[in-house]
Amino acid sequence: MLAPATPPAYAIEARGLQKTYPGQGKAGPTHALKGIDLAIPRGSFFGLLGPNGAGKSTFINTLGGLVTKSGGSVAIWGRDLDRDTRNARGAIGIVPQEINIDPFFTPAEAMEIQAGYYGVPKGERRTEEILRAVGLWDKRDAYARTLSGGMKRRLLVAKAMVHSPPVLVLDEPTAGVDVELRKQLWDYVRSLHAQGVTIVLTTHYLEEAQELCDTIAIINRGQVIACEPTPQLIGRLDRKTLVVTPQAPVAPPLGGFEDVTFAMRPNGAFTLTYKTSEHSVEALLDRVRTAGVAIKDLSIEEPDLEDVFVELTR
Ligand code: ADP
Repeated sequence: MLAPATPPAYAIEARGLQKTYPGQGKAGPTHALKGIDLAIPRGSFFGLLGPNGAGKSTFINTLGGLVTKSGGSVAIWGRDLDRDTRNARGAIGIVPQEINIDPFFTPAEAMEIQAGYYGVPKGERRTEEILRAVGLWDKRDAYARTLSGGMKRRLLVAKAMVHSPPVLVLDEPTAGVDVELRKQLWDYVRSLHAQGVTIVLTTHYLEEAQELCDTIAIINRGQVIACEPTPQLIGRLDRKTLVVTPQAPVAPPLGGFEDVTFAMRPNGAFTLTYKTSEHSVEALLDRVRTAGVAIKDLSIEEPDLEDVFVELTR
């Protein structure tokens, strides 16, 4: 692993990053990144979320050198991408969205080729250790074209780790991967994170981001619209839902709840969605009893990332 004298505060630091794709034919240019400022703390498990076309892939491809930025600066592990390109690139491993594995090589061969590409000396290669970790050691001598989609994805992660980068970026790594394999993939990524690798993840699975990421940035139309610790981001929604299961069926609408959102559930429970800054559970429960409802069961539902996401990208 790269070990600079003082590890940088940020694994990735983008300042005013811009990308404009030239227009083709009659279509005008696309401003895919409109001045992205993003500081990804070293050691974080960082989620990059945004709707389709937000600029996530453009951002990641800029880090990987597949896209040439139009403006701004990027440092990876403290190394400027323009001035110290080699070391900046050496500090990052990128798992691409597209499966780009040569079907005629075996996983073992693919790993050796990738290690050669990064100039990892033979004695320092970790092919066996990495292939074991991603559950592909048994398949090391099988042609890649015989691997399942999930296995190919795991091989991409393995390839991204050959040069032991301190930063691993995964671009939509679990799209189309079944639940069991997804779990295996995350177990491995989590173990890398536990060893100190900074993980940057883009995903459409908000639940996955909520579960895995300690910090989340949301980008929309080429701009960062939020970047916060996950609990803080979710806490932005000043809203909770009280779910009440009554002893006996209630007939809606229930009077006295005009200032909150009342709704029925198919199972006979009713919900009161309220602003936490304006109502207390205590007061709401008093009102439920005053309305003559005997309570059989109660629960409180908190907003999740999906709600925040919808709210922010609306
Ligand atoms: P995301 O990964 O968040 O879905 P992208 O980075 O792929 O977003 O795309 C951002 C914007 O840039 C979109 O409007 C997309 O159409 C445009 N874009 C992406 N790649 C190219 C390209 N190679 N040429 C022209 N426009 C592009």
